[in-house]
Amino acid sequence: MTRIIKKISEWRKVRNETENKSIGFVPTMGALHRGHESLIEKSVSDNEITVVSIFVNPTQFNDPDDLQNYPRAFEKDYEILNSHNVDYLFFPDYGEIYNDNYRYKLSESEFSKILCGKFRPGHFDGVLTVVMKLFNIIKPHKAYFGEKDYQQLKLIEGMCKAFFMDIEIIQCPIVRDVDGLALSSRNKLLSEEERKFALNFPRLLKSDKSKEEIFRELENLGFKVDYIEEMDGRRLGAVYVGNVRLIDNVKI
Ligand code: AMP
Repeated sequence: MTRIIKKISEWRKVRNETENKSIGFVPTMGALHRGHESLIEKSVSDNEITVVSIFVNPTQFNDPDDLQNYPRAFEKDYEILNSHNVDYLFFPDYGEIYNDNYRYKLSESEFSKILCGKFRPGHFDGVLTVVMKLFNIIKPHKAYFGEKDYQQLKLIEGMCKAFFMDIEIIQCPIVRDVDGLALSSRNKLLSEEERKFALNFPRLLKSDKSKEEIFRELENLGFKVDYIEEMDGRRLGAVYVGNVRLIDNVKI
């Protein structure tokens, strides 16, 4: 059975007794799907102990409605963790993580200001701060992140390098539904019709059209498009389907 740990003090006791064992860590915001499961499976196979955290981190939400509507599914999540033989679920509340009420924060000044950062002010400050806190609490050897959130992954790698953190970041490929839509907790917020419409996004991203053409075509179809950009041999994009913001990227 996956042991649920809510308090940092409780985890510290457990951590002290695991001295020589390899610890893999998968941070999440819950509402788990097969994308999360692929990270969890990799951690379970690579490490003696796997810790998954579920924490819907308020400081990374620039939109209060998005935070309020973010899907939460604790019972089902817990079943999933059990079925993968995850050793520990770290499930803290806000006060446990933000004992300073977010007076202290970590920020990056260049890469975090473009792509998603340009449209979601403060988002990556919240992400980097919470990941730093979680790393300092869990003290894993390896931590698993999905290429779905490519900019986040690169910023976390950069943070570890900048602060000489002794944690290996493991980059995991995007898991998609059979029809091509990248799995995301926010997909649960799409109506059946919106979900069908959303398929145009991965379809156009991986087409051989230019980024400008893809941008225009998505807008003509009725998407609100934040950006379509290319870097590191990838094409990345962020769009809205109704109120739901979707991101994705493909290798080009
Ligand atoms: P989240 O719960 O959305 O914060 O995501 C937790 C972790 O799961 C992050 O490292 C994400 O990049 C990763 N993740 C989310 N969706 C997918 C997906 N479809 N494929 C692979 N990894 C994913």
